[in-house]
Amino acid sequence: MATKKSKPIVATCWLAGCAGCHMSLLDIDERIVALSELVDFSVSPITDFKELPEVDIALIEGAVANEDNMEVLKDFRKKAKFLIAFGDCAIFGNLPAMRNAFTVKECLEEAFLDTESTVNPNGIIPTGEDVPKLLPKVLTVPQVVKTDYNLPGCPPDADAIWFLLTELLAGRVPEPTEIPYRDFKFD
Ligand code: SF4
Repeated sequence: MATKKSKPIVATCWLAGCAGCHMSLLDIDERIVALSELVDFSVSPITDFKELPEVDIALIEGAVANEDNMEVLKDFRKKAKFLIAFGDCAIFGNLPAMRNAFTVKECLEEAFLDTESTVNPNGIIPTGEDVPKLLPKVLTVPQVVKTDYNLPGCPPDADAIWFLLTELLAGRVPEPTEIPYRDFKFD
């Protein structure tokens, strides 16, 4: 009996980001069905794998803001043949890195004590082993691991994501200038 040829495995992860890059991946709309014919999806924010297997393509959304992000990213780098920094937070730091102008203590106090809407009479700032420790500064993905591709955008356009994935699955690595971005026009 002929053995079934296995499909390339795609995994995604969500570090310090807003999930908008993953939303843009879903914005490929009905092409997600075609993509699911071409690949097997593995670890992602909506699947429940306890361990990351070896994967062919990994999309990494978000910057590296805490110790958990760091551990997850290093694991992805070990297991992924082709690792993509997915979106501006991953590549440049973008919004999460805005906290780099402040100390961790200042950020925690602003978040948990000082904002107008905060009601925290006991002044509790969550700590402990279940709360990932913030890094002194937010890092980009390429500052922590070698990336095989950087796909910019906030978020990257759905057509750009589709183009990159289908090119990779066809065995080609496109030049960044080949990536189709929508031609936004402002009146
Ligand atoms: S790049 Fe933009 S859309 Fe993607 S996680 Fe960052 S803020 Fe969200």
